[in-house]
Amino acid sequence: MEQTELLWQYQEADMAADALESEIKRSPARLALKKNREFLVEQQNAVKRMEEEVAEMVDRVDVIKVAITRMEEQLGTLTKRMQDAPPSDLAQAQEMAKDAQRLLGDLSGFEQEMQRIQQDAADRDRQEKDIRVKYAKVKAEYDQQKIEYEALYKEQMKGLDEKRAAAEAKTKDIEPALLAKYQQIKQHCSRPVAKLYGDQCGGCNMNLPQASLRSLKNGNKITECENCGRMLIQM
Ligand SMILES: [Zn+2]
Repeated sequence: MEQTELLWQYQEADMAADALESEIKRSPARLALKKNREFLVEQQNAVKRMEEEVAEMVDRVDVIKVAITRMEEQLGTLTKRMQDAPPSDLAQAQEMAKDAQRLLGDLSGFEQEMQRIQQDAADRDRQEKDIRVKYAKVKAEYDQQKIEYEALYKEQMKGLDEKRAAAEAKTKDIEPALLAKYQQIKQHCSRPVAKLYGDQCGGCNMNLPQASLRSLKNGNKITECENCGRMLIQM
Protein backbone atom coordinates (compact mmCIF):
# COMPACT_ATOMS: atom_id res chain seq x y z
CA MET A 1 0.00 0.00 0.00
CA GLU A 2 1.17 3.51 -0.81
CA GLN A 3 2.46 5.71 2.02
CA THR A 4 -0.26 8.25 1.21
CA GLU A 5 -2.97 5.64 1.62
CA LEU A 6 -1.43 4.33 4.85
CA LEU A 7 -1.14 7.85 6.19
CA TRP A 8 -4.73 8.63 5.30
CA GLN A 9 -6.00 5.47 6.95
CA TYR A 10 -3.96 6.19 10.05
CA GLN A 11 -5.40 9.70 10.23
CA GLU A 12 -8.95 8.34 10.00
CA ALA A 13 -8.26 5.98 12.93
CA ASP A 14 -6.43 8.71 14.86
CA MET A 15 -9.33 11.14 14.33
CA ALA A 16 -11.83 8.51 15.48
CA ALA A 17 -9.85 8.11 18.71
CA ASP A 18 -9.62 11.91 19.17
CA ALA A 19 -13.35 12.26 18.56
CA LEU A 20 -14.12 9.64 21.18
CA GLU A 21 -11.77 11.31 23.63
CA SER A 22 -13.45 14.69 23.29
CA GLU A 23 -16.84 13.00 23.50
CA ILE A 24 -15.75 11.45 26.79
CA LYS A 25 -14.58 14.84 28.05
CA ARG A 26 -17.90 16.44 27.12
CA SER A 27 -20.10 13.65 28.43
CA PRO A 28 -23.09 15.03 30.39
CA ALA A 29 -22.25 12.88 33.41
CA ARG A 30 -18.73 14.32 33.48
CA LEU A 31 -19.95 17.91 33.06
CA ALA A 32 -22.57 17.47 35.81
CA LEU A 33 -19.89 16.10 38.10
CA LYS A 34 -17.56 18.98 37.26
CA LYS A 35 -20.31 21.52 37.91
CA ASN A 36 -21.06 20.04 41.33
CA ARG A 37 -17.38 19.86 42.19
CA GLU A 38 -16.95 23.53 41.30
CA PHE A 39 -19.98 24.41 43.40
CA LEU A 40 -18.57 22.51 46.38
CA VAL A 41 -15.20 24.23 46.08
CA GLU A 42 -16.93 27.63 45.83
CA GLN A 43 -18.91 26.93 49.00
CA GLN A 44 -15.80 25.80 50.84
CA ASN A 45 -14.11 29.04 49.82
CA ALA A 46 -17.14 31.07 50.90
CA VAL A 47 -17.12 29.42 54.33
CA LYS A 48 -13.38 30.02 54.62
CA ARG A 49 -13.87 33.70 53.74
CA MET A 50 -16.60 34.03 56.33
CA GLU A 51 -14.48 32.39 58.99
CA GLU A 52 -11.69 34.83 58.21
CA GLU A 53 -14.11 37.76 58.40
CA VAL A 54 -15.47 36.51 61.72
CA ALA A 55 -11.92 36.14 63.03
CA GLU A 56 -11.26 39.77 62.05
CA MET A 57 -14.46 40.81 63.82
CA VAL A 58 -13.41 39.00 66.96
CA ASP A 59 -10.07 40.84 66.86
CA ARG A 60 -11.85 44.15 66.40
CA VAL A 61 -14.22 43.41 69.29
CA ASP A 62 -11.21 42.75 71.52
CA VAL A 63 -9.72 46.12 70.52
CA ILE A 64 -13.04 47.88 71.20
CA LYS A 65 -13.42 46.21 74.60
CA VAL A 66 -10.02 47.49 75.66
CA ALA A 67 -10.88 50.99 74.39
CA ILE A 68 -14.21 50.97 76.25
CA THR A 69 -12.55 49.88 79.49
CA ARG A 70 -9.99 52.67 79.12
CA MET A 71 -12.70 55.28 78.53
CA GLU A 72 -14.70 54.08 81.50
CA GLU A 73 -11.60 54.48 83.62
CA GLN A 74 -11.07 57.98 82.25
CA LEU A 75 -14.70 58.83 82.97
CA GLY A 76 -14.26 57.45 86.48
CA THR A 77 -11.17 59.59 86.99
CA LEU A 78 -12.94 62.64 85.68
CA THR A 79 -15.96 62.06 87.91
CA LYS A 80 -13.74 61.57 90.93
CA ARG A 81 -11.84 64.77 90.13
CA MET A 82 -15.11 66.69 89.93
CA GLN A 83 -16.17 65.30 93.32
CA ASP A 84 -12.82 65.82 95.04
CA ALA A 85 -12.22 69.27 93.63
CA PRO A 86 -15.40 70.78 92.20
CA PRO A 87 -14.78 73.37 89.51
CA SER A 88 -14.17 76.76 91.02
CA ASP A 89 -15.49 78.80 88.14
CA LEU A 90 -17.73 78.50 85.11
CA ALA A 91 -14.91 78.14 82.61
CA GLN A 92 -13.46 75.19 84.51
CA ALA A 93 -16.88 73.60 84.84
CA GLN A 94 -17.49 73.93 81.10
CA GLU A 95 -14.06 72.46 80.38
CA MET A 96 -14.78 69.41 82.55
CA ALA A 97 -18.25 68.97 81.05
CA LYS A 98 -16.74 69.07 77.57
CA ASP A 99 -14.24 66.34 78.48
CA ALA A 100 -17.01 64.19 79.92
CA GLN A 101 -19.16 64.68 76.80
CA ARG A 102 -16.32 63.81 74.50
CA LEU A 103 -15.66 60.57 76.41
CA LEU A 104 -19.37 59.70 76.45
CA GLY A 105 -19.59 60.38 72.71
CA ASP A 106 -16.62 58.12 71.97
CA LEU A 107 -18.07 55.46 74.22
CA SER A 108 -21.40 55.47 72.44
CA GLY A 109 -19.60 55.32 69.08
CA PHE A 110 -17.75 52.20 70.13
CA GLU A 111 -20.89 50.65 71.55
CA GLN A 112 -22.68 51.21 68.26
CA GLU A 113 -19.79 49.66 66.36
CA MET A 114 -19.89 46.69 68.70
CA GLN A 115 -23.61 46.22 68.00
CA ARG A 116 -23.01 46.40 64.25
CA ILE A 117 -20.29 43.79 64.48
CA GLN A 118 -22.49 41.51 66.56
CA GLN A 119 -25.24 41.88 63.97
CA ASP A 120 -22.79 41.13 61.14
CA ALA A 121 -21.45 38.12 62.96
CA ALA A 122 -24.97 36.78 63.49
CA ASP A 123 -25.71 37.29 59.75
CA ARG A 124 -22.59 35.41 58.78
CA ASP A 125 -23.40 32.66 61.19
CA ARG A 126 -26.81 32.25 59.55
CA GLN A 127 -25.30 32.32 56.04
CA GLU A 128 -22.74 29.76 57.02
CA LYS A 129 -25.46 27.44 58.33
CA ASP A 130 -27.38 27.80 55.04
CA ILE A 131 -24.23 26.98 53.09
CA ARG A 132 -23.51 23.93 55.20
CA VAL A 133 -27.02 22.58 54.58
CA LYS A 134 -26.75 23.15 50.81
CA TYR A 135 -23.22 21.78 50.79
CA ALA A 136 -24.23 18.55 52.48
CA LYS A 137 -27.03 18.02 49.96
CA VAL A 138 -24.82 18.62 46.91
CA LYS A 139 -21.97 16.61 48.42
CA ALA A 140 -24.21 13.56 48.82
CA GLU A 141 -25.37 13.96 45.21
CA TYR A 142 -21.79 14.42 44.04
CA ASP A 143 -20.52 11.33 45.85
CA GLN A 144 -23.21 9.22 44.22
CA GLN A 145 -22.55 10.77 40.78
CA LYS A 146 -18.87 10.12 41.22
CA ILE A 147 -19.33 6.43 41.88
CA GLU A 148 -21.58 6.11 38.85
CA TYR A 149 -19.32 8.17 36.65
CA GLU A 150 -16.20 6.25 37.61
CA ALA A 151 -17.79 3.03 36.35
CA LEU A 152 -18.86 4.74 33.13
CA TYR A 153 -15.46 6.37 32.71
CA LYS A 154 -13.67 3.05 33.05
CA GLU A 155 -15.88 1.66 30.31
CA GLN A 156 -15.31 4.71 28.08
CA MET A 157 -11.56 4.57 28.57
CA LYS A 158 -11.54 0.92 27.59
CA GLY A 159 -13.21 1.92 24.30
CA LEU A 160 -10.69 4.73 23.85
CA ASP A 161 -7.74 2.42 24.49
CA GLU A 162 -9.06 0.12 21.79
CA LYS A 163 -9.36 2.98 19.32
CA ARG A 164 -5.88 4.26 20.19
CA ALA A 165 -4.46 0.76 19.74
CA ALA A 166 -6.22 0.41 16.39
CA ALA A 167 -4.72 3.71 15.23
CA GLU A 168 -1.30 2.74 16.53
CA ALA A 169 -1.47 -0.51 14.57
CA LYS A 170 -1.95 1.50 11.38
CA THR A 171 1.38 3.28 11.84
CA LYS A 172 3.30 0.02 11.41
CA ASP A 173 4.30 0.49 7.77
CA ILE A 174 4.43 4.28 7.67
CA GLU A 175 7.89 5.80 7.24
CA PRO A 176 9.05 7.21 10.60
CA ALA A 177 9.86 10.61 9.09
CA LEU A 178 6.32 10.96 7.75
CA LEU A 179 4.87 9.92 11.06
CA ALA A 180 7.04 12.42 12.91
CA LYS A 181 5.90 15.14 10.51
CA TYR A 182 2.27 14.12 11.11
CA GLN A 183 2.71 14.44 14.90
CA GLN A 184 4.49 17.76 14.51
CA ILE A 185 1.72 19.27 12.34
CA LYS A 186 -0.92 17.87 14.67
CA GLN A 187 0.38 20.17 17.42
CA HIS A 188 -1.26 23.09 15.66
CA CYS A 189 -3.69 21.45 13.28
CA SER A 190 -6.24 18.86 14.35
CA ARG A 191 -6.25 17.10 10.96
CA PRO A 192 -2.66 17.14 9.73
CA VAL A 193 -3.27 15.44 6.38
CA ALA A 194 -5.49 16.81 3.63
CA LYS A 195 -6.27 15.57 0.17
CA LEU A 196 -5.70 17.59 -2.92
CA TYR A 197 -8.88 18.46 -4.82
CA GLY A 198 -8.08 19.82 -8.26
CA ASP A 199 -5.49 22.42 -7.37
CA GLN A 200 -7.03 23.17 -3.98
CA CYS A 201 -6.02 22.06 -0.49
CA GLY A 202 -8.82 19.92 0.98
CA GLY A 203 -7.96 21.27 4.44
CA CYS A 204 -8.15 25.03 3.95
CA ASN A 205 -9.60 25.22 0.41
CA MET A 206 -6.89 27.55 -0.82
CA ASN A 207 -5.43 27.23 -4.29
CA LEU A 208 -1.94 25.85 -4.31
CA PRO A 209 0.89 27.86 -5.80
CA GLN A 210 2.20 26.58 -9.13
CA ALA A 211 5.47 25.38 -7.60
CA SER A 212 3.67 22.98 -5.25
CA LEU A 213 1.40 21.77 -8.02
CA ARG A 214 4.41 21.16 -10.28
CA SER A 215 6.08 19.13 -7.53
CA LEU A 216 2.97 16.94 -7.29
CA LYS A 217 2.74 16.60 -11.03
CA ASN A 218 6.37 15.54 -11.14
CA GLY A 219 5.47 12.43 -9.20
CA ASN A 220 5.77 13.60 -5.61
CA LYS A 221 2.80 12.18 -3.73
CA ILE A 222 3.11 14.45 -0.72
CA THR A 223 3.64 18.17 -0.43
CA GLU A 224 2.89 20.86 2.12
CA CYS A 225 0.11 23.40 1.90
CA GLU A 226 1.84 26.75 2.22
CA ASN A 227 -1.32 28.30 3.61
CA CYS A 228 -2.34 25.93 6.42
CA GLY A 229 0.83 23.85 6.79
CA ARG A 230 -0.95 20.50 6.31
CA MET A 231 0.58 17.60 4.51
CA LEU A 232 -1.16 17.46 1.19
CA ILE A 233 -1.53 14.11 -0.44
CA GLN A 234 -2.53 13.13 -3.90
CA MET A 235 -4.51 9.92 -4.02
ZN1 LIG B 1 -4.22 24.11 3.26
